[in-house]
Amino acid sequence: MLLVNSNSNLKTADAFVKKIKSATCVSTDIRSLFSANGNELRIEKNHKGARPPGWFKHWHDAAVVACERDEWELTTGFGFCTSGGAYVLIPDGVSTRSQNKDPTGRVVPDHEISWDTGVWGAIVPTETMARELSADNDKLKHYDGSVVWAKSPGRTRGAIVVVDRYQLGSGGKTETVSSNEFTKAFFHELLHAGRISGGAPYADDDARFSGVANHIQAQFQKCSAAQ
Ligand SMILES: [Zn+2]
Repeated sequence: MLLVNSNSNLKTADAFVKKIKSATCVSTDIRSLFSANGNELRIEKNHKGARPPGWFKHWHDAAVVACERDEWELTTGFGFCTSGGAYVLIPDGVSTRSQNKDPTGRVVPDHEISWDTGVWGAIVPTETMARELSADNDKLKHYDGSVVWAKSPGRTRGAIVVVDRYQLGSGGKTETVSSNEFTKAFFHELLHAGRISGGAPYADDDARFSGVANHIQAQFQKCSAAQ
């Protein structure tokens, strides 16, 4: 299970599941793997549909690990464009250690959103995880050094952040991210999280990661091309 952060903009696991289930670009087989139980998002360990392709098995294995290890929690994020022209996200309910501030003095996590690939999300590891991650000198596009910061002693989980709303210009209207875009980012970040927890290659530029990630993305690209 994956705990939903209590300060997430999507308040319940059920709200996340509804968003995933309405992502029409992915097959019902994949969407129906997810269910909600209170504040927990669950993923089915067995795939019930037709024999899935190899890339799916890799993704599904990572998704199950991300959910079962209880090292991650799920939250939404707000995406916007800074005065410097960078697209960043602010995770909801996650305290991150970051030195960056926007012109109003608000602390801005340095998570640049990759608008070209259309993955609007990030993973934010804990301090302990980050130490382990930096040890292999692997550079992640979605991980830039910000860590989840425990305010009090005790267990902290890393965060899987999915942008659910964004603003293109300052003072502009806040738009909602579509179910397909949201689910695409969630599936991508879930793969990062599961691979990190499982000790498998997790960096965007590692072919063993991107080989799987590109297949996920292709499901959504196929869909938007057909529309
Ligand atoms: Zn990535």
